[in-house]
Amino acid sequence: MAGMQAPRGTRDILPTEVSYWQQIEGIARQILHQAAFQEIRTPLFEQTELFQRGIGEATDIVGKEMYTFTDRGGRSLTLRPEGTASVVRAYIEHGFQAQGGIQRLWYTGPMFRYERPQAGRYRQFHQLGVEVLGTHSPRADAEVIALGLDILKALGLGDVTLMLNSVGSREDRQRYRQALVDYLTPFRDELDPDSQTRLERNPLRILDSKDPKTQAIAQDAPQLLAYLAPASAEHFEQVQQYLTDLGITYTINPCLVRGLDYYTHTAFEFQQLDLNQEATVCGGGRYDHLVSELGGPETPAVGWAMGLERLILLLQAQQVAPEIHLDFYVVAKGDTAERQALKLAQQLRHLEFAVEQDLSGSAFGKQMKRADRSGAKLCLIIGETEATQQTVQVKALRTSEQTLISQAKLVHNRAQLQQWLNGAGLELP
Ligand code: ATP
Ligand code: MG
Repeated sequence: MAGMQAPRGTRDILPTEVSYWQQIEGIARQILHQAAFQEIRTPLFEQTELFQRGIGEATDIVGKEMYTFTDRGGRSLTLRPEGTASVVRAYIEHGFQAQGGIQRLWYTGPMFRYERPQAGRYRQFHQLGVEVLGTHSPRADAEVIALGLDILKALGLGDVTLMLNSVGSREDRQRYRQALVDYLTPFRDELDPDSQTRLERNPLRILDSKDPKTQAIAQDAPQLLAYLAPASAEHFEQVQQYLTDLGITYTINPCLVRGLDYYTHTAFEFQQLDLNQEATVCGGGRYDHLVSELGGPETPAVGWAMGLERLILLLQAQQVAPEIHLDFYVVAKGDTAERQALKLAQQLRHLEFAVEQDLSGSAFGKQMKRADRSGAKLCLIIGETEATQQTVQVKALRTSEQTLISQAKLVHNRAQLQQWLNGAGLELP
């Protein structure tokens, strides 16, 4: 088959990019571990009904973005477009609520949405998300927001903007909905086509439209914040107070809505505003009715999901390049030398050093050029002479300093090697 390509909207993550992924996963794993979150892994596909009920028929995701197929047994299955519904399904299925207390879960992995591909928007993309289930406390809202920010900061992306809003309770929204429809109806013909259909089905989502004209109209719409019942307003006040206590600044954006019925109260996004591509790297909020909506007991919850491809675009734009870690590059030519090099590389790896050996068999000059490009600190060279004497030339690639040592001694003095790697001169004791 000639000219096979990865399917539209998918991409290979090549070795030069993988280090960014490992960096993000490593940092997130550590920060979430410190905050007592536990990882959960759910299947890549679920019964279609889970997403229909969990995300909602009126949403873009369910309406037009799902990869749905019928399997050989006639079941309707869907590649997961997001993580929360699956986590909640698992929470109910395994009776987590019966274990009492609060569950703090995180996940990462690929998600699938049939969207128009562009920079930062793919059909297979990756999210990392957290969910705290079992508490109404606004402290949980503040804690997950702070964790998200901690992860972004640890990655060197501290200058993101936190956009914050409250979408109130279901009852608050019911009262607001009518006021919004009354305001928007006279503008009906000026709204983008999606928003026109939403006017009946899901008018709140119109506030979230990306169409400039619709956005301008939405700017002057009545604000949901004015329709919050006292208890909802207090929850929102407290979240803000806790964020302030944590030294976290935010911008209240009354147009920020999560358009699903089960979303309640806090809604937030982290945005990189000076980026002309997709700006939102992380979105989340409170979803106090999703667990019951999916058949579990009333369980309030709050969480967020980060888009990893967008994070990586930001990291690359800011040139926060992850470090290459390579200690030794081993260069050898000739049968005996190459056999010794093979063994030396393994011995050094058993001492927990990172070692690459040149397998090309090409001329020394070429191998040395690759050593220079490899990012290794030290080059180990075995030529014919060294092979006969069972010695090895050690070369510091930054300073070009060089010394000769027996192969046996080299692997028997780990502390010495570590000193050399730390940049000390290559003197022998
Ligand atoms: P958008 O409005 O950009 O479509 P969304 O509201 O659909 O985002 P969420 O469902 O909240 O996004 O997902 C959380 C995060 O996942 C987003 O903030 C974004 O960083 C990332 N994300 C969502 N869809 C995609 C996609 N198709 N490709 C890459 N990343 C995505
Ligand atoms: Mg979307």
